Amino acid sequence: MREGLLQIFQEIYRDLRPGAPVPELAVEFFAFVNLNNTIRMRQGKLLVRLSDLLQGAPEAVLRAIAHILLAKMYRRPIERAHATRYRRYVSGQDISRKAHLVRQVRGRKRIESPQGRTYNLEKVFDDLNQRFFYGLLARPRMTWSRDHARNRLGHYDPAHNAIVVSRIFDHPRVPGYAVEYIVYHEMLHLKHPVKLRGSRRCVHSAEFQAEEKLFPRLDQAKAFLKQL
Ligand SMILES: [Zn+2]
Repeated sequence: MREGLLQIFQEIYRDLRPGAPVPELAVEFFAFVNLNNTIRMRQGKLLVRLSDLLQGAPEAVLRAIAHILLAKMYRRPIERAHATRYRRYVSGQDISRKAHLVRQVRGRKRIESPQGRTYNLEKVFDDLNQRFFYGLLARPRMTWSRDHARNRLGHYDPAHNAIVVSRIFDHPRVPGYAVEYIVYHEMLHLKHPVKLRGSRRCVHSAEFQAEEKLFPRLDQAKAFLKQL
């Protein structure tokens, strides 16, 4: 880890929450597809991932992103000076060009395997197909997403006839019913094709919603997704 990065986050934390004990912190650079930065709390520990495109950033920029992430985490207003400094830096020619290249290289469509480290999506699909659809649904390609997307947990990609599930679910700490729920939801999209309304794809008709309620551990699954 870059020297001083942890100290920066600790200092900004103290500025933002004077008097509050500084939690355990881990800050790392990560090879996201896009210029992403993430922060989350796990068992009292703050985990920060900064885009590796920021690796050479000046200290003031790292302070700015530390402020932005911590302010978001603790729902504090983001100081304009920090927001501006960060935005200027990442929209600068040098960084935008790098970000563009990285997106091209890392974002390339790859053939992904349904076999994750913990869960096999084809098995999940086949099992649900038997239990809820009399085995009648044709299985599309099942793939884990490349990145650990939190904004898109699962989706059906009609262009590739693929159900894509966010890789964050491929973990032993994730209960089986949560993965099943994500896949089940996408299977309902297969069963109830969307009547396109404008550009919106994810339309949940009354029949869709009624059928979703048949999922046995719906409340638990939704509660699990909520705390992600
Ligand atoms: Zn949906």
